[in-house]
Amino acid sequence: MSIAVNLALITARIAAAAKASGRKPEQVRLVAVSKTHGPGAVKEALAAGQILFGENYVQEAQDKIPAVGPGPSWHFIGHLQSNKAKVVAELFDVVQSVDRLKLAKALDRRAGELGRKLGVLLQVNVGGEAQKSGCAPAEAANLAQEVAKLEHLELTGLMTMPPFFDDPQRARPLFAQLRELAVRLGRDLPEGAMRHLSMGMSGDFEAAIAEGATLVRVGTAIFGQREYS
Ligand SMILES: *Cc1c(COP(=O)(O)O)cnc(C)c1O
Repeated sequence: MSIAVNLALITARIAAAAKASGRKPEQVRLVAVSKTHGPGAVKEALAAGQILFGENYVQEAQDKIPAVGPGPSWHFIGHLQSNKAKVVAELFDVVQSVDRLKLAKALDRRAGELGRKLGVLLQVNVGGEAQKSGCAPAEAANLAQEVAKLEHLELTGLMTMPPFFDDPQRARPLFAQLRELAVRLGRDLPEGAMRHLSMGMSGDFEAAIAEGATLVRVGTAIFGQREYS
């Protein structure tokens, strides 16, 4: 199926999931995850009205983002080393995968040099899996306090990537855990600092919406299977 058709189907499913849990469709935004797919695929999605895109790899984004040109808003969602902060602060509007203060400070410094403000979300490892990025839930409050002080970053919420389950309903307690954490942290943070919950991917975005997701990150269901070379 074409990217435009896939986008229409996903958008309809997002709206239905939002309504089913008493939320408004416009409270959930779709981040189209275009990693491994070329600028042509992004342009096709853009032509179909998709504005928001997510990328995981710095080097790939360095080629792709200029090739696509103006129009999209780009979110970085992958693991990020502090020495790549400069490039990411130049190319992206939002970094969803901030999981340590060193990285936040590097992004803040680069954003300051560029005279811009960079949106950030804190990635939290709610599943506690050893191989996944993200700070531990117990560290999140401290990290949020420190990040909120950084002048060139705007903290807007939390992101998570729970373990893969065949049955997406099994991820729901973890999505709920992220929502509850955001509520708790929000009490001691500036207004709006916990307004976004980025959770849910191709296989489980409806379960995430039922638990309050405001950003869902969907790749495969829009662009098809990824091929890694
Ligand atoms: C690749 C990726 C996605 C998209 O996953 P799909 O299963 O293809 O929808 C979402 N979030 C992150 C952090 C990813 O790395």
